[in-house]
Amino acid sequence: MFLRMILVTIMGILLLGWVIFCGIQWIRQGKRAVFYGDFTGHIKCEKCGREYTVSGPEFAKGSMVRSKSTVSTGIKGGMMIRQRKYSYYARKFHCPFCKKRVYGQVLNINELQGHMTAPAVKAGIRWLILMCVGGFLIMAVMGIFINFADAAARRRTDALRQEYYYNERG
Ligand SMILES: [Zn+2]
Repeated sequence: MFLRMILVTIMGILLLGWVIFCGIQWIRQGKRAVFYGDFTGHIKCEKCGREYTVSGPEFAKGSMVRSKSTVSTGIKGGMMIRQRKYSYYARKFHCPFCKKRVYGQVLNINELQGHMTAPAVKAGIRWLILMCVGGFLIMAVMGIFINFADAAARRRTDALRQEYYYNERG
């Protein structure tokens, strides 16, 4: 039964590793889907007041967020959804007019928020399915090994029992 314990432990580690791997892939792909897809940020420079657009990767680079938002809880498709609505959202971007990194207000932040959720959810569902399929495969393969180990253990016990039986009679 020692072998069985080792096999079960290996199975646990494999499953955990797989789940973590899928989680990381989800986050990475989600980010990529969000920022490299159809994504245009409309920015209004807070210094010169002029407007320009930024692409996804450029938006992702922007740091130093200043924002005002409200969170509302609603029910959508039978699920409780917390939705953040920004009344103001600014990040530091490279303004093409000022020629330096200054705060720019993201005018379409609420629309972008909507764009951000859908691809992330889609990537999430894909990885969730892969997570389940992979998990079942790991369990099936390890199950075969565990069965072999059990069968071997049973054979050993049977052999011992038979030996005992013959000794008794002998
Ligand atoms: Zn500017």
